Amino acid sequence: MRVVILGCGRLGLRLAAKLTKEGNRVVVIDKNQNSLHKLDRDFSGEALQGDGVNMEIYQSVFSEKADVFFAVTNSDNTNIMAAEIARQKYKVEKTIARIGDPIRAKAFEELGIETVCPTTMCEKKLLKMISPVKPQDREEVD
Ligand code: AMP
Repeated sequence: MRVVILGCGRLGLRLAAKLTKEGNRVVVIDKNQNSLHKLDRDFSGEALQGDGVNMEIYQSVFSEKADVFFAVTNSDNTNIMAAEIARQKYKVEKTIARIGDPIRAKAFEELGIETVCPTTMCEKKLLKMISPVKPQDREEVD
């Protein structure tokens, strides 16, 4: 698969490393060169400096077909806009946006935009951790 990741922070870095090791072609974009410098020395994908609010970056990166697009910057607005551009304009089949605000994440989901909300994932995990079920019987939160 060709996977494009917007945001090379703590989450984007991990996705890029894992997906590259699994044999995918990964392009990772960040506006901050220092974030890109944190990629492993042996990272074999493409690292691009670019701002997700700038249309030119999408023109360039989606000139070749992408199978997956992850918008995982630390800005909900940027992520939602980027995911919509990838989905609507460049017809990327799988686009997922990281949205920190649970209310907005739910609203966007209802509009058909795939989102992950770290806030609600963490909330579920924490509540599970204090539930009366024995630790070994607990299901992992996906
Ligand atoms: P983290 O919260 O650690 O996952 O980091 C978020 C990353 O998103 C940082 O490396 C930021 O530089 C990056 N970022 C934030 N806004 C943008 C943007 N508009 N375009 C590209 N990267 C961004």
